[in-house]
Amino acid sequence: MRYISSHRPTAFAATTTIIALLMPSLLAHAQTEPSAASRSQLKVETNFPNGSGRVIEINHASRYIRIEPTTHELRGWACWWYIRVSGIVPGEMITIEVGPEPWATPSQAMFSTDDRTWQQTAPGEPVGRSIKYQQTIDAPVAWFAWGPPFTVAAATRLVNQAKQACNDVQEFTLCETRGGRAVPAMRFQPREATPTSAIWVQARQHAWEAGSSWVCKGFVEWLVSDDPRAARLRGSTMVTVVPIMDIDNVAIGAGGKNQVPHDHNRDWSEQPHWRSVAEAMRELRRLDDTGQLDLFVDLHNPGANTTRPFYYVPPRELMTTLRQRNLDRFLAASRIEMTGPLQFTGEIRESGPEYDEGWKQISKNWVTLNSRDHVVATTLEISWNTPDSTIDGYQTVGRQLGLAIERYLQLDPHKATSQETKPGQQIR
Ligand SMILES: [Zn+2]
Repeated sequence: MRYISSHRPTAFAATTTIIALLMPSLLAHAQTEPSAASRSQLKVETNFPNGSGRVIEINHASRYIRIEPTTHELRGWACWWYIRVSGIVPGEMITIEVGPEPWATPSQAMFSTDDRTWQQTAPGEPVGRSIKYQQTIDAPVAWFAWGPPFTVAAATRLVNQAKQACNDVQEFTLCETRGGRAVPAMRFQPREATPTSAIWVQARQHAWEAGSSWVCKGFVEWLVSDDPRAARLRGSTMVTVVPIMDIDNVAIGAGGKNQVPHDHNRDWSEQPHWRSVAEAMRELRRLDDTGQLDLFVDLHNPGANTTRPFYYVPPRELMTTLRQRNLDRFLAASRIEMTGPLQFTGEIRESGPEYDEGWKQISKNWVTLNSRDHVVATTLEISWNTPDSTIDGYQTVGRQLGLAIERYLQLDPHKATSQETKPGQQIR
């Protein structure tokens, strides 16, 4: 069905073009004919920031495009894709086939006609190890992507947006990457007094996990809002936010996960390879030295089959009784606040020696092993393969994460009750 001969339509298109040049009204008429679509050439481009996609096949007659994510050697999984398609006749159906599964093939992809607002496609149809999306497009140009893209420019815009909305925001560059790019970051620093509490929220150690940056954006937008609970949090707590850690791979549209020599979330060692990680470690150490650091949250997107957000937590045996109590309080606060549509129902997974031999070099485990014993460090995994894994859905999780953090810090995480300070006592 895909290989319809295009000879006749092409010849006809040339004739039509000549007539249309002479009589523009004829072209308008021609475009309303059902066969018009087969006469315009579809064009796929990825030559823009965060773009990815190698064309395997285009059939102009059947309006069918088959791609794979662009492979970037040594840059991790090839799972992120983001393409611009032009030559569309408004109102026609475009078919995009992508593979292979599982990381590159969400049940619903995303599409946009302005590269800014993104909607889910209709559910795709599995074709072997690939998936085929069919979507009617009402514009001459459309963008299709694995998920809603969140680019380096979007990170810079988010920092500026926060700065404009709130006097307490200071922008800073976390570092310059090995690729020579600046890593935008921001800090909420209450002006009146030195805050006794500091928290750190970061996203996108894995470049393909664009949804995590949208969660981060939802968190920031809530934090600068006039919600009294947001005002309370930013009035009492220093909040550092890094919307994209692996800037270089986001810029070129690479996956980043399991890149060489290892990815950002296996880099939290005595000799970090990636500068974002080195600088985050240095800052977290400093905040812990001053006794301010209370909480670290690392935002990610998990495997394709996960339907609800969950937390990775450090192995319990690494944690003091106080730290375990605080973790349980934070999880309870998250359960109260993250009510959906992407709901946190209390699911946690431990990532210790059985999970990965490099477990000590995972961010939250490093923070746990290198901070005061009340500090909570977790990874929040936000499901990306659901009908609610949209910009709205992600931003709602971010706002709810803010509410959970505010709720958690209502109780002093430094203070243990006499019960909890008994030596050797474990909460489980
Ligand atoms: Zn990840």
